[in-house]
Amino acid sequence: MSRVNTVLGPIPTEELGIVAVHEHIGYGMPGSELDTRWWKSPEERYAETVPKLRRFREYGGGTFVDATGICNGRDVDYYKSLSAKTGVHIVACTGFVGGDTALPFFARASVDYLTRQFVHEITVGIGDTGSRAGVIKVGVSRGGRMTELDKRIYRAAARAAVTTGVPILTHLAIDPEPAVAIFAEEGLPLDRVLFGHADDGVNAPNTPDVWLAERGGRIGFDTFGYETELDDPPFWARPRRERLAHFLDFIGKGYLDKALVSADANCSPLGWPGVKRHTVNYLFEDLVPDLREAGVDEATITTLLVDNPADFLTITT
Ligand SMILES: [Zn+2]
Repeated sequence: MSRVNTVLGPIPTEELGIVAVHEHIGYGMPGSELDTRWWKSPEERYAETVPKLRRFREYGGGTFVDATGICNGRDVDYYKSLSAKTGVHIVACTGFVGGDTALPFFARASVDYLTRQFVHEITVGIGDTGSRAGVIKVGVSRGGRMTELDKRIYRAAARAAVTTGVPILTHLAIDPEPAVAIFAEEGLPLDRVLFGHADDGVNAPNTPDVWLAERGGRIGFDTFGYETELDDPPFWARPRRERLAHFLDFIGKGYLDKALVSADANCSPLGWPGVKRHTVNYLFEDLVPDLREAGVDEATITTLLVDNPADFLTITT
């Protein structure tokens, strides 16, 4: 049986339904939980998060992939409760958003240690939750070049992906040559990697999406909705029409099978105010209507939201 790990246990791939492939229940920088200004009670977090997931379900959403790495507020017992309450499958990740969000304990760890950590979280479980990770998160640290620590994490992630068959999801796809070299050295086919944030306003100009897709990589147009049109746009925002045009150009070149879409929204941000009026439901409320208006047919929309993420997330071993 082809299957995917969710926080409530493995499920058959066919049960994923519509997938938001790169989202966050709550994302914060390591240590934000230590600043008392930012404490949120569990009740506040539920109150912010449950309506968004319920709406996601009402729109026909099936699966929410939480791309929050170790040290960024990942909270699997909470995810289990949210999934049980809302009926949304939640996939949790192992790994790190980037080397620069790994706390010193992990930042000093060897490739072997990190590999064992990732494999344990995928095959045994995350802490004592009993939940197994369904994806591995890696990323490029701030500064635009892969650091030595980023490379150590990528190598450990590649080994864990080869061992377990769970795919890798990256934060940023800039400076991709070292990443592609590491994956090749470790024998990981690039279709097991989603190169993320190819579409955001800061990184899109420096992300060789076609170069990566030509080598088999999957490309994440996964910051949909972070638009300059928002009242208070973040620094990575991009004009709505420009992002859509970039995306349509990419799939128009024949790379539909390599494309994955998501909103990278936070249900309840941790330690920062978040971006107002941006939620995972952008996919249903804005992106799908925009695609239809641009003449994209229903079969293509299903490929993007159902088939491509199912193919990516399915455990290959
Ligand atoms: Zn993210």
